[in-house]
Amino acid sequence: MARFDAVFVGSGINSLAGGALLAKSGWRVCILERADWLGGAIKTVDGLIAPGFTHELYSSWHPLWTGSAAYAELKPELDRLGVEYLNTALPTATAFPDGSSAVLSTSLEANTAALGEPWARQFEDFMGKADVAFGVLGTELWSPSGLALGRRAYSQFGRRGLVEFGGRVLGSARDWLTETWEDERTHGLLAPWVLHTGLGPDQASSGFMNQVIACALQLGGMPVPKGGGIRLVEGLASIIRAAGGELRTEAEVERILVSDGRATAVRLADGDAVKASRAVLANVTPTQLYGHLLAEGEVPEPAREAARGFRYGRGEMQIHLAMSELPRWRGGDERLARVPVVHVTPGLDAVSRAVNEADRGLLPAEATIVCGQPVAVDSSRAPRGSWILWIQLQELPPRPKGDAAGELDTAGIWTEELREAYADRIVDRLGDHIENLAATTIGRVVLSPADLEAANPNWVGGDIYGGSCALDQNLLWRPMPAMPGHATPVDGLFHIGASTHPGPGLGAGSGYLAAKRLLRPPLPKRLLSKLPGRA
Ligand SMILES: Cc1cc2nc3c(=O)[nH]c(=O)nc-3n(C[C@H](O)[C@H](O)[C@H](O)COP(=O)(O)OP(=O)(O)OC[C@H]3O[C@@H](n4cnc5c(N)ncnc54)[C@H](O)[C@@H]3O)c2cc1C
Repeated sequence: MARFDAVFVGSGINSLAGGALLAKSGWRVCILERADWLGGAIKTVDGLIAPGFTHELYSSWHPLWTGSAAYAELKPELDRLGVEYLNTALPTATAFPDGSSAVLSTSLEANTAALGEPWARQFEDFMGKADVAFGVLGTELWSPSGLALGRRAYSQFGRRGLVEFGGRVLGSARDWLTETWEDERTHGLLAPWVLHTGLGPDQASSGFMNQVIACALQLGGMPVPKGGGIRLVEGLASIIRAAGGELRTEAEVERILVSDGRATAVRLADGDAVKASRAVLANVTPTQLYGHLLAEGEVPEPAREAARGFRYGRGEMQIHLAMSELPRWRGGDERLARVPVVHVTPGLDAVSRAVNEADRGLLPAEATIVCGQPVAVDSSRAPRGSWILWIQLQELPPRPKGDAAGELDTAGIWTEELREAYADRIVDRLGDHIENLAATTIGRVVLSPADLEAANPNWVGGDIYGGSCALDQNLLWRPMPAMPGHATPVDGLFHIGASTHPGPGLGAGSGYLAAKRLLRPPLPKRLLSKLPGRA
């Protein structure tokens, strides 16, 4: 039986980054992936639509990765391996139905000029609390480090300040936006970003997430790896292999083997087994972990019960277009062709309405179109003078039971006909904004929530965030209030991935936290190192 120090189930960013960190410390790591590619939500495809065009089939934007603790530690190796990031000074914009637009830049002065003094005030205020705010998202909360973060926040803000900060974490984006700005165009510029945290603008904690993202956009821009996310995957895989590790595709794990209460190996669907002498890390949903991978009787029934109650969020659709020309955005704001993520929406109320319609099982009448333009940052992705649109629709029901616009027939499932008809509606609307869209489109590929679910078992119902990010299932309560954090009832088995804290995105937070925990010296050694005279 092959034997490694750590075995990862699944090859998403949390596994690759966690595996690379362990490998850097001399661990032999094995990554087992059921699909025929490594990277999970990172999948770069050359020629998806036409030769010379490089598309990101799923995730595209890497600000969470370049701002992550994992990247900070792995950057020297990744630089050496040629993983290069490109960035922009204009990360995002919103295009409104009347042809006007609002743009956010990476300059505090420019943003203050565009959005008024409230921008500078809220940015300064947020930065005063940034270490705690980012700390919440980068710390194992139910642990001594979580306690230390709480103590630091207490000494920094005082009792009242801490209560006030807690209140701000709970608030909705609607409340934060409308209390901070009168201008509805500013609401329309910032509100769509709440969707990228799996929330809607009226949900608890969406105000906090909106502030974190708004500030992060100014601070970090919208970086992408030159040539596509595949470069990052290859870089992380090289680090793992250089330390004697292995990464296998088409290797589905069907059982985590437990002996005397400890995870010791995994069994693959083809019957092969791989031994893990120090840890198994499962980058899967709680549904899969407790419902399938662990045999009945290996975990207490309450844990299985809690996992059965894990909720999934809205579905998502991806539309990929290749264009033979650069886009001509209506309204004359030439900056829009330089912005990697343009949201097309009438504003805050429209985002709220579309989220509500999706939550009620309806196809939204006027969805928020996330119009990604990767070539605006990385010109190597398409032949000179041509263009790619990476379009995301994050307000979709997993099982459509009606159409809020009253146009499309739905039967509770995503058929190919429904997928293409809904994509037509979106592309037609986008054509009102990009004047040469219809005439210059070379081809398109659409993925419905059902297609996404088929591609990765972590995207149940097309939920690209691995489980609802509502507050009662997030932060202190992720993945489940009864079992938060990354430890599991089985010794040596750690739960990582988007379903776990700090949730989805390319920040690799859970892989990082689990790797750090495994690399921590044992308690006696830690205590000894604190004695006077010891380093
Ligand atoms: C369409 C889409 C667009 C997105 N866009 C962005 C973006 O631009 N920026 C951003 O920061 N985030 C984005 N996200 C979110 C982000 O990409 C994900 O949250 C993140 O990549 C999830 O990483 P992960 O480590 O949890 O694992 P995943 O990427 O979910 O990978 C898990 C892997 O485990 C494998 N697996 C599952 N079960 C088994 C098993 N039993 N045996 C073997 N293998 C198994 C799966 O096949 C999968 O490959 C997007 C997500 C999607 C889907």
